[in-house]
Amino acid sequence: MSGNCLPEYISAVFPRRVSVAVDVDGVLVGGDAPVAVQSMTNTDTADVDRTVAQVAALHRAGSEIVRITVDRDEAAAAVPKIRERLERVGVNVPLVGDFHYIGHKLLADHPACAEALAKYRINPGNVGFRDKKDKQFAAIVETAIRYDKPVRIGVNWGSLDQELLTRLMDENQRGGSPMTAQEVTREAIVQSALLSAALAEEIGLTRDKIILSAKVSQVQDLIAVYTELAKRSNHALHLGLTEAGMGTKGIVASSAAMGILLQQGIGDTIRISLTPEPGGDRTREVKVAQELLQTMGFRQFVPVVAACPGCGRTTSTVFQELAQKIQADLARNMPLWRERYPGVEALKVAVMGCIVNGPGESKHADIGISLPGTGEMPAAPVYIDGKKAATLRGPGIAGQFEKMVGDYIERRFGAKQAAAE
Ligand code: SF4
Repeated sequence: MSGNCLPEYISAVFPRRVSVAVDVDGVLVGGDAPVAVQSMTNTDTADVDRTVAQVAALHRAGSEIVRITVDRDEAAAAVPKIRERLERVGVNVPLVGDFHYIGHKLLADHPACAEALAKYRINPGNVGFRDKKDKQFAAIVETAIRYDKPVRIGVNWGSLDQELLTRLMDENQRGGSPMTAQEVTREAIVQSALLSAALAEEIGLTRDKIILSAKVSQVQDLIAVYTELAKRSNHALHLGLTEAGMGTKGIVASSAAMGILLQQGIGDTIRISLTPEPGGDRTREVKVAQELLQTMGFRQFVPVVAACPGCGRTTSTVFQELAQKIQADLARNMPLWRERYPGVEALKVAVMGCIVNGPGESKHADIGISLPGTGEMPAAPVYIDGKKAATLRGPGIAGQFEKMVGDYIERRFGAKQAAAE
């Protein structure tokens, strides 16, 4: 797939920002590559079994790049073992090492770790302090050059370079404070990313090996910072709202911020940082990222099920249950279907609650059903490719419709596979 599959009227108004593509071990980030989905583990990297299991789960859920923490010797020593174990089970996802404070030392002391990783993440705010800062930053960049790896220069609001911030605050004050403290902080975040990228290039890392990110925790700050970063550079950009929060709060905040940026053509890879609920599923962040990109029309990952919200006309739960079951079946079958039925992710299914919008929405879908609302005749018309194909009746409507969806997929997408063989 090349580029974003934006409708013409959108791409005409908001062309994708031109960035330099970075090859992260086979996954292109930037240029006209589709916006990549990535995620991060929350296991102790030194625990090889649990980290392998979580990386595999994230990748199977659709994460195209997975980041792992490399915070101490035990974690760095585990990285090549994790890489090897993943390959043995057929999980070839690029692994990114997340380094803070002692990344230069860990990479120097663990050459197998430096080799096994597909990319290094450097945080310019905590790579070192005072006179050691540039030296330690340079050491990581030189390692990246030696091993031919890209880096992400990932600035974070919570660990912003305090020397830079203080200098900009002082300059602003001396100039009569034309900017608010918040504006100076935003500028410091942007400058931290750009100055670090310039330094990396001076050391010899080429631009096609550098991805930038500048994560903050507030939606408006994120939009402002990335808009500025996009104007002032052509580096590939990794988008993410840091400390987005738990559950719906995190999902809404991340989607609001990144949706606006993506719509303006800004962003080459995204990560949705959700705080997992106790015992929660880490892969949720991957599903949310995919849904954001798919909902906006940038990429297609799983077939879409359009379902109405229901109202006083739907006093039974049949249609909610059917919509939920169809969606779950599609998601469960996708790993296999992706190979067996090329293009199936473009499928649109509609499950509607009554006659008011049911037939209309069903006609717009590839296959749709309009269930009988309260007081309507107990019949459910099914539309295929815009035409009425059947009317289902009786208690087995759900099962019959599911079978029709399966037959439709086999007929339409199975034929493509047969032709390709
Ligand atoms: S399609 Fe019918 S059941 Fe669904 S929300 Fe509209 S009126 Fe209500």
